[in-house]
Amino acid sequence: MSRPRLLVSGPWARGQVLAIKGRDARRLTRVLRLGKGDLISIFDGQGVEGGARILELRGWAEVKVEVLWVERAQAESPLKIHLVQGLPKWPKMEVVAQKVTELGVEEVCGLLARRSVPWSGEGEKWRRLERIMEEASRQCGRANVPKLSGPWKLEEFLRYQRGKPGARLLLWEGERTNSLKAALEAWKIPPEQVWLAVGPEGGFDEEEVKIMNQEGYTPVSMGPRILRTETASMAVVAIAQYLWGDMGGRASGMP
Ligand code: SAM
Repeated sequence: MSRPRLLVSGPWARGQVLAIKGRDARRLTRVLRLGKGDLISIFDGQGVEGGARILELRGWAEVKVEVLWVERAQAESPLKIHLVQGLPKWPKMEVVAQKVTELGVEEVCGLLARRSVPWSGEGEKWRRLERIMEEASRQCGRANVPKLSGPWKLEEFLRYQRGKPGARLLLWEGERTNSLKAALEAWKIPPEQVWLAVGPEGGFDEEEVKIMNQEGYTPVSMGPRILRTETASMAVVAIAQYLWGDMGGRASGMP
């Protein structure tokens, strides 16, 4: 069993004694039945990992741990990817949230496109997406949990992202001249941030494409096949992460 990982707000330093309380303390003692001397992993949510040893249990309500080591997490990409996801039907959104978290996105922006199918019980579903992303981060060893923002109407989203740095691409199956490949290769120096917009099952309508293009999103084709929204999101995030981020090692062959 992999060592339990806990989100513990930092900063913390080697040798420091931390008090873990509440739900996390109960998880360590009642659920995982850990005891004095057991090791746990901690991360601060800002990209720092650590290891700690249980020193003392005060019932189920508080666990004292000593920080044994601290390091900068290796699992964060230098490329900040903002996936602008035209909200699909609910089950697909769970798949997208989990997979793009593993692929290292920085943020998922939920966009209520005109052809998005509204969800019932939105608030609870939104909190569920956050839990899915936290679980995916913990599982893949990230020390950051991607931000989930929205759900945004188009105008709200454009106000939110306006002025923020980064390359901007809009995946559009109706694009006939500009390819994803050409658009990526046009960036001689890889950007540090990228905003990738993908439509819902019904796609973006032509007016949405026009409005987003005016905001600097370049419509690009991903080739002759029509991909499902979840396929397109995972594919474009992986391609950007491979070309500009940390997926598949560096050109020098370093891992
Ligand atoms: N209008 C599409 C159709 O005719 O079936 C439906 C949209 S597609 C299922 C969902 C989204 O994936 C699109 O809005 C687009 O963002 C992206 N996508 C799928 N295939 C694509 C392609 N070949 N080129 C660019 N984007 C694509």
